[in-house]
Amino acid sequence: MIILEVAKKILSLVMNKETKELKKAGLKATLPRIRILETLESSSERHLSAEEIYKELISAGEEIGLATVYRVLTQFESAGIILRHNFEGNHAVYEISPDDHHDHMVCLETGKVIEFHDDTIEELQEKIVAEHGYEMVDHSMVLYVKPKSK
Ligand SMILES: [Zn+2]
Repeated sequence: MIILEVAKKILSLVMNKETKELKKAGLKATLPRIRILETLESSSERHLSAEEIYKELISAGEEIGLATVYRVLTQFESAGIILRHNFEGNHAVYEISPDDHHDHMVCLETGKVIEFHDDTIEELQEKIVAEHGYEMVDHSMVLYVKPKSK
């Protein structure tokens, strides 16, 4: 019984966290929204496609349709909760909007998405933008890579 109570308590804490995030973004905390947000936040892979999110929810026993996943992801994107990336040779992938800027590398053989941040590159970009008489608002850089041949 105690274990069940603890489980309930943990569940309500988790629900509260997602509910708060949704409210902050101006979205009502519906079950599909909570579940999809949880999946994005708890996954070991930070960049997930709609299909991957769908499959994860189905294997966790959730009753949800792929169309709902797409609809909720679009709502999340509009609300600024998540970022959508259309990397070449990939389906669109989504990630929780990061607090800090990062760039991406995409492996063309495996589809793996690698995040990186490099101060030298960041500074160089600022410098180039300034030389053209502008200031940076945002940027995204994607490097397409393959495993080093031995
Ligand atoms: Zn990322």
